[in-house]
Amino acid sequence: MEACINVEKEIEKVLCKFGAFNDHVYRTLTEIIEYVENIKKEISEGAAANEITAAQALILTQCCKKVKDVVASMATEHRDLHGTVSKVGKAIDKNFVADFASTSNEDVFQGTENSKLLNQVISEHFLRQGMLDIAEELIKETGLQMELQKKEPFTELNRILDALKRKDLEPALVWAKSNRSKLLEQNSSLEFRLHRLNFITLLQQGIFKQDEAIAYARKNFQHLASQHEKDIQVLMGCLLYLKSGVESSPYGYLLDPVYWEEICDIFTRDACALLGLSVDSPLAVCTNAGCIALPALLNIKQVMQQRLVTGVWNTRDELPIEIDLGRKCHFHSIFACPILRQQSSENNPPMRLVCGHVISRDALHKLANGTKLKCPYCPMEQNPSDAKLIHF
Ligand SMILES: [Zn+2]
Repeated sequence: MEACINVEKEIEKVLCKFGAFNDHVYRTLTEIIEYVENIKKEISEGAAANEITAAQALILTQCCKKVKDVVASMATEHRDLHGTVSKVGKAIDKNFVADFASTSNEDVFQGTENSKLLNQVISEHFLRQGMLDIAEELIKETGLQMELQKKEPFTELNRILDALKRKDLEPALVWAKSNRSKLLEQNSSLEFRLHRLNFITLLQQGIFKQDEAIAYARKNFQHLASQHEKDIQVLMGCLLYLKSGVESSPYGYLLDPVYWEEICDIFTRDACALLGLSVDSPLAVCTNAGCIALPALLNIKQVMQQRLVTGVWNTRDELPIEIDLGRKCHFHSIFACPILRQQSSENNPPMRLVCGHVISRDALHKLANGTKLKCPYCPMEQNPSDAKLIHF
């Protein structure tokens, strides 16, 4: 906001100068035109036979000189305006950092292998979003080899999800049934929730659907009873209020449309977990993380430039500062030792120091001096034997 105000001040100055210049030019030009017109009138009135007297010639020469001078002074004034305009440009450069490219590493997307990976990630993103035709086109144009096996789960997931959005539970139920054992393994309540929505839809239609609702419950809730006993009891309780309407009963909350929104999220989460996919598209996660990190990176870059210490940040694959992207972006399946720059292994596992910093065991041994260890990050002094092995 402050940046906008700063630039606005400069623009205000330009507008003010332009206004003054405009007025001045208009006045001067009117005067000079009037002056020339008068001379013209005088000469045409006084001329006898298309001849100009010596006095008139002198007046004309003076007039020409005056016009020339005025035009020259206006040109100078106009040139001065450029300075004010370019000040706006400078103010924008100073207050807004437009050079986003400076924070990126250009080599990342270069080379056939890297650009292939990038295209693959983009195609997968489109497949995930259900934009199958765009993904197909991109795969075709970039000559990517994507196996049908890779595409199929996305196609199926999107088909089911589309149906769910239309409140058609059938495809999701078929999928949940065929994957029942795997879903149970991951403690998923998807199948129960789908049946519950079907049951509630029946209840909403009133007393004449009573028999159908009971039959549905008998058929579909039995195998879910051990896992969802309480919830099923609640649903059975609803049957008592069929006559007066479930919406005005203590179970009215079950009719909340939020359950329909929830089922889409639950289906996506459980299906992705089952297929070994992350719930969010990796490309979307990266882009969002980049957007969060960018302002901080640009800030630190500016500070580094002002203090002339740009050379300090030489390692391009490491950020100069730690940026907190929030809990949603916490992924810790792999640990790489920040000291030895190696991925941890069984022989060299990550160790948590007393201060909370984590380094690999090899690094710990290397840095330890007898019973003393100075954390390379904070740098708190501690006993290396107090470090604890951590598991991911
Ligand atoms: Zn530390």
